[in-house]
Amino acid sequence: MGCDFLKLAVSGVQSLHPYLPGKPVDELAREQGLAVESIVKLASNENPLGPAASSTAAISHMLSELARYPDGNLYNLRVTLSEKLAVKPEQLTFGNGSNDVLVLLAECFLKEGCSAVFSQYAFVVYPIAVQASGAESIVVPAKDFGHDLEAIGAAIRSDTRMVFLANPNNPTGTAFGTAEFTDFMAKVSEDVIVVLDEAYFEYADGGDHPDGVQLLNQYSNLVITRTFSKAYGLAGARVGYSVSSPEIASILNRLRQPFNVNNLAEAAAVAVLNDDEYLQQSRDVNSEGKALLEKGLAQLGYRFIPSSGNFITFDTGMDGVACYQKLLEKGVIARPVANYGMPNHLRVSIGLKEENERFLEALAEVKEQVVE
Ligand SMILES: *Cc1c(COP(=O)(O)O)cnc(C)c1O
Repeated sequence: MGCDFLKLAVSGVQSLHPYLPGKPVDELAREQGLAVESIVKLASNENPLGPAASSTAAISHMLSELARYPDGNLYNLRVTLSEKLAVKPEQLTFGNGSNDVLVLLAECFLKEGCSAVFSQYAFVVYPIAVQASGAESIVVPAKDFGHDLEAIGAAIRSDTRMVFLANPNNPTGTAFGTAEFTDFMAKVSEDVIVVLDEAYFEYADGGDHPDGVQLLNQYSNLVITRTFSKAYGLAGARVGYSVSSPEIASILNRLRQPFNVNNLAEAAAVAVLNDDEYLQQSRDVNSEGKALLEKGLAQLGYRFIPSSGNFITFDTGMDGVACYQKLLEKGVIARPVANYGMPNHLRVSIGLKEENERFLEALAEVKEQVVE
């Protein structure tokens, strides 16, 4: 017989679907009998340069400390980052990736009977965090695949406690400008926390792209989240953070697991924060790769969504998962976005030159196969 444990789970969790990660290289190698070196993974918006040498050296130095608990207050990272961002150390909350901080925000401020607002095609962690908390998700239709801030503002109800905005957004790569954002903030009541997820901030180079941290002084209800997983090349180390008022940070800190960032990750993050060269190289590789992929996709006749991030989402002109499968057979891992309600699109992360070329070649072959 056995017990139906799903019935015992809290109601928000009962109907939850787990996050679908990009396929790991080793998994595809096993499935297709391919050599690991022959596989190109452009599925998780990772930094194609690999980790900064400064990060790996810092981790090596820290290895002898592995028997010790990390500094729960993350003093070194806190001081380094607060200086870099010109904020007070007590405005920072660290997490095991920014995902951890997003969930922590939902846990601290959402519950049954209240609601949270986010856009259609927004990052899938928001609905997961909201639903698990028991709160209701209000999904606002996108405009040209991007956030419709006016409609998002209009969707806020009296029971709304939180709004999630991703700028640039994943998986669409869309971004909104400073004026649009400040117009939005002006209309949002102060008791609604606006979480501005800037996971791809370091890549967004448009002149009018808002810098959330610079705007914190104007809005006490604004929380910025950022990560070391993308431009800083530490997705595997798991470090992210939020910048907020000290008051909100102190609330988050009540529930935060005391050692949610390990000492290796902290050391790696401090090192790469001081490594301006690595960050610049990450940006350069990304803008060159973006130009190459945009040109290649256009030449092959694919429509793509202009991206401010380190990935491009394009219309495959067929079932996106079928296209993904065909690319897998050629050793190229892209990311289906059917779970975002975009069944014909695929998201491809911007890689090194050779990787982008491999992807375009494989895509051209898929296209030929389908036409035949
Ligand atoms: C990648 C990503 C994150 C954060 O990932 P972590 O590795 O948990 O820091 C957050 N938001 C968006 C929109 C992302 O794409």
